[in-house]
Amino acid sequence: MTAEQEIYKLREELNQHNYNYYVLDTPIISDYEFDLKLKQLQELEAKHPEFFDASSPTQRVGGEITKSFETIQHEYRMYSLDNSYSKEDLLDWENRIKKIIEGEIKYTCELKYDGASISLTYEEGNFVKAVTRGDGFQGDNVTANVKTIKSVPLKLRGDFPSKFDIRGEIVLPFEGFNKLNEERIEIGEEPYRNPRNTASGSLKLQDSAEVAKRPLECLLYNLTGTSLGVSSQFESLEKARDWGFKVPNVAKLVNSIDEVIEFIAYWDEHRHSLPYETDGVVVKVNSLQQQDELGYTAKAPRWAIAYKFKAEQVSTKLESISYQVGRTGAITPVANLEPVELAGTTVKRASLHNADQIAKLDIRVGDMVYVEKGGEIIPKILGVDLSQRTSDSMPTEYINNCPECNTELVRQEGEAQHYCPNYNGCKPQVIGRIQHFISRKAMDIEGLGGETVALLVNEGLISNYSDLYELTKEQVLPLERMAEKSADNLIKGIEQSKSIPFERVLYALGIRYVGETVAKKLAKHYKSIEAIAVASEEALVNVDEIGKKIAESVLAFFQSQENKVIIERLKQFGVQLEMSAEQLEGQTNLLAGQAIVVTGVFETISRNDLKKLIEDNGGKVGSSISSKTTFIVAGDKMGPSKKKKADDLKIPIISEAEFLLKIDN
Ligand code: AMP
Ligand code: ZN
Repeated sequence: MTAEQEIYKLREELNQHNYNYYVLDTPIISDYEFDLKLKQLQELEAKHPEFFDASSPTQRVGGEITKSFETIQHEYRMYSLDNSYSKEDLLDWENRIKKIIEGEIKYTCELKYDGASISLTYEEGNFVKAVTRGDGFQGDNVTANVKTIKSVPLKLRGDFPSKFDIRGEIVLPFEGFNKLNEERIEIGEEPYRNPRNTASGSLKLQDSAEVAKRPLECLLYNLTGTSLGVSSQFESLEKARDWGFKVPNVAKLVNSIDEVIEFIAYWDEHRHSLPYETDGVVVKVNSLQQQDELGYTAKAPRWAIAYKFKAEQVSTKLESISYQVGRTGAITPVANLEPVELAGTTVKRASLHNADQIAKLDIRVGDMVYVEKGGEIIPKILGVDLSQRTSDSMPTEYINNCPECNTELVRQEGEAQHYCPNYNGCKPQVIGRIQHFISRKAMDIEGLGGETVALLVNEGLISNYSDLYELTKEQVLPLERMAEKSADNLIKGIEQSKSIPFERVLYALGIRYVGETVAKKLAKHYKSIEAIAVASEEALVNVDEIGKKIAESVLAFFQSQENKVIIERLKQFGVQLEMSAEQLEGQTNLLAGQAIVVTGVFETISRNDLKKLIEDNGGKVGSSISSKTTFIVAGDKMGPSKKKKADDLKIPIISEAEFLLKIDN
């Protein structure tokens, strides 16, 4: 087999496996085997850039940066839907449409997925672009981000129309949402409130590699275009599924509003077992010809209507409010409720978020409150049943002092949360920070768990993470549940963490807002903790993706005398506080401040390696040509429109060979 044939074969195989896994939910090979094949393809493509294909399964990893999303006109408008809330509403709707069309009407019932609407364009079976709904007439071009979603086919299968748009909803299934939130809590960020906002927020992230990490899914429900070769909504769903789209199997074709009501009743009860959030049912006239006759109002199609589920709610008594202190000192008020059954689980607690939320709801101990459960881990309180409030009820007074250490709380302007400023003396903060330090993605200290950290702090053996490195076996042996072997492992694990690379140490320090990605960026840019510690706020915000909030937090961290001492100690113990010689190899600042666009097909180097070279030499890879572009590295087959844009803006174009010379010092 020639390399070309092998590349094509692997692409086809991987597309099929992707389809089995993400669309059919029935994988036939293991993740490991899949990764092996993908890697094989990556290597072949790197060796043979002449066979580059934007629709290759290797193109999903992301990495493209979008600074501002281009506005794109929808070829066909994206309408909204009228709502209904009862059988009467639905019968009214049927009466209205029966005045316009004659003959039998069938309806397609679908679920209303709660996410971010999206319109995908396909030409000749290739994914071309993805645009958000926006105002219905025009939306944002989020192609680079949507490309990373594995259930969006990059190449279609079977007998598809040559050009069409397909509409759907990008959702974040509960499982992925909850995992994402666990990670947020771990870095001291407030958890996301609900999957829907998180899904739409994800589409607007600048770094598509970040989007690739989020387990988003794209569920499709509408074909738009001419010559689609279908005559009904139900048929178009089936066709779209055949072409490789993820079209949930729940749609049902029915003959009457009574059957619509049955469908609604069934899903109102069973929707909680679905992996993603739904907020209703969408009923559509099935025949496309009848749809045509019915047409649109100013806002919505006449041929469809949404039925909104009532969110499941119960009322229960608020027994008390307690206040939790997080690792960063953030205070979260929690409602302790009289236990009650809701959507299949027993609810005892609900987050009250912050002082404003309590004031807004005017929620008081002893009140009967309404509780609702969406996809979130923690249910939410919607309001108070005032009719049941007793005359002796007193407004809730928010605490002024930390429930753990009694320090007076502070609340910064523009922030919703109160904080305990007792950074070094407040137990949950001290323990939480060390627990974060040893966690898997940070220093990954084997043999030491969260509970042991709490024990060590409570026994007065450590009071910050640098103290870990002075622990002796003799000190830990007397601790509860500590045996000879586990004590050895603990000390060994701590010792081994001294070789954890700088970027992870930086993350482990637990600087507020410095998550894994930001830590990587800072480490790469500054190369040592000393350089970060003396960086000014202006310098920090000039680093890619570092905003004011992060810069201020970094500055504050290094201004603290205590932190200076702790870092000095870490250094003495031999923890990695700078990039190693190995990591620094090949890194220069030759291209600092330059924005470089890479386009076309290259001969001696893969596109990804080229991008990496640019970044290793301090440059930034831009995704589209603009007046800010410093120069373009063009391989073979640079597109004519790009060429014209570059010429118009007088941006220099250099070849791959010229580029390699430029950085060859
Ligand atoms: P609304 O935003 O309340 O006006 O509802 C309209 C939106 O519902 C559409 O823009 C779609 O994004 C979304 N939607 C979710 N599921 C469906 C579906 N099965 N059919 C049509 N629209 C849907
Ligand atoms: Zn405190």
